[in-house]
Amino acid sequence: MHTWSDIVPPDKRTPGIVAIDPVIFPILDKLYERRIKRLNAQAHALGENGEYYRFLSQIVHFQQQNLALSPLQQDEITAIHAVISREQSNEQLENRLLDITCWQTAYARLITQLEAFLPQEMLQRLSGLSTKPQHLARLVVHLLRAEYQLVNPGSAVVIWAALSACWAQAITSLQKNAVTHPIAQSVVCPCCGAPPVASLVLDGAREGLRYLQCSLCETRWHRVRAVCIACEKTSQIDHWTLDDTKSAIQIETCGDCKSYIKTFRLDYDPTLEAVADDIGSFTLDKVAEAEGFLRIGINPFSFPA
Ligand SMILES: [Zn+2]
Ligand SMILES: [Zn+2]
Repeated sequence: MHTWSDIVPPDKRTPGIVAIDPVIFPILDKLYERRIKRLNAQAHALGENGEYYRFLSQIVHFQQQNLALSPLQQDEITAIHAVISREQSNEQLENRLLDITCWQTAYARLITQLEAFLPQEMLQRLSGLSTKPQHLARLVVHLLRAEYQLVNPGSAVVIWAALSACWAQAITSLQKNAVTHPIAQSVVCPCCGAPPVASLVLDGAREGLRYLQCSLCETRWHRVRAVCIACEKTSQIDHWTLDDTKSAIQIETCGDCKSYIKTFRLDYDPTLEAVADDIGSFTLDKVAEAEGFLRIGINPFSFPA
């Protein structure tokens, strides 16, 4: 395992044989560091046009700082775990979110940190939400229920980032106790129920194993390769790249259910980071979508309009 990797070493139950861990919890500090590095690299490559990447880099910088400045208390971890592990109506979810203040505080602090980067109109809208916790909590409910069209896409990025800063901390603190949904064949995160960003084919001691990475709490969960994430069929799976077949960024399409997922081959390029490099490769998504395939999962920095 590389020293900069946020992926913890595998669980070796028998000497010489690596057991497949059903879930991997990231080392958050390292994950954020890698994401910032990849966002900055893309901002640099785009020069004057890299403004959005610089803005996103600030968001991740905030999330990283939040780990040290606002470590969650045990009662907050317990409250977040209770929210994500229960079946509940929208109203119940909204009320429970309102009772958890850490994400609301993170949201307010994030807006302050982003002030210099936001257009005036956007800043006013986001600051306005800080003073209306009930409305803010309702927007979170929409996002958690995948009703993205009910939330302004720009606001969604900032709200999700604040929520993610707390949810990821809670889940990584709980480790295996955080798994509350079935892992096998799961399309959504077994810990928090959010959709994946993309899939990763790992390198190192887990070389060749495929994991999906959660868009909210950053957990990865194992899914067998070349089996459709959505319908589990195998007969019409194809892999697409923009250049050669050894490209580290690929798309896996399923002709049976017409879905696709972005795949990052860390065994080809271990420096890739799912969230940052997904944004940098949206051209591939356009090609797949033009062919009629529908994306599985979301990127937390680019919500559907
Ligand atoms: Zn999750
Ligand atoms: Zn399928």
